[in-house]
Amino acid sequence: MKVERVLAVGAHPDDVELGCGGTLALYRKMGAEVVIASVSCGDKGSRELSREETVRVRREEAERAAGIIRATYISLGLMDSEIFEDLENRARVIELIRNVRPNVILTHSSSDYHADHRTTSLLVNQASYIATSFRFETESPPLSWVPPVYHMDNYLGVNFLPEEFVDITAVIEVKKKMILQHKSQFPHLKERSGEDILEDMLILARLRGRQSGVRLAEGFRLFRAWPHIRTYRLLP
Ligand SMILES: [Zn+2]
Repeated sequence: MKVERVLAVGAHPDDVELGCGGTLALYRKMGAEVVIASVSCGDKGSRELSREETVRVRREEAERAAGIIRATYISLGLMDSEIFEDLENRARVIELIRNVRPNVILTHSSSDYHADHRTTSLLVNQASYIATSFRFETESPPLSWVPPVYHMDNYLGVNFLPEEFVDITAVIEVKKKMILQHKSQFPHLKERSGEDILEDMLILARLRGRQSGVRLAEGFRLFRAWPHIRTYRLLP
């Protein structure tokens, strides 16, 4: 099965690059189109800048990161730390999925550390099925298939046991470069909780690599609900 379109949905700008940037780079190498979406605009991601300025800066960073693998970036524009599963947001995510028409969706797991990540996971899981419903109307027409949804690893792998691995050794520099576009987040996260997102990403990639017999890997789990399951591999 040739994957033609991939949709990666994160809660905040930078989540997708961290969780599955290597896998997205490999999909692009295989000729698939890639769309990176963030549900929120990341407005609370800076102490120094105003929220409006933060949104602008983070959009530019996300566009640059997507540009590195010639992917498209879309923000659904919700407020950071204010993502809830309600009817309006369900419709927004359904419309996103219908608009992109992906063969595969990548998103957060339901056990990651941030409430927005967990709600994004829920929104995508639900929307990926309802996107086929003729009676749930949004701007784009319904899908005729239910796209499989893969959950990407949790931050530092806490409470996540991957069942499929992708060897990202060959594209690690691309992944690093994508993450480094999110410059505004480095001082912010370091100051907040001592996180060095680049170092943490490499620690996890090395662990997942050791677990799967390669140098560096990303780990995933399939959202196992009918009819999301396929008999063949969809990850690179
Ligand atoms: Zn996030």
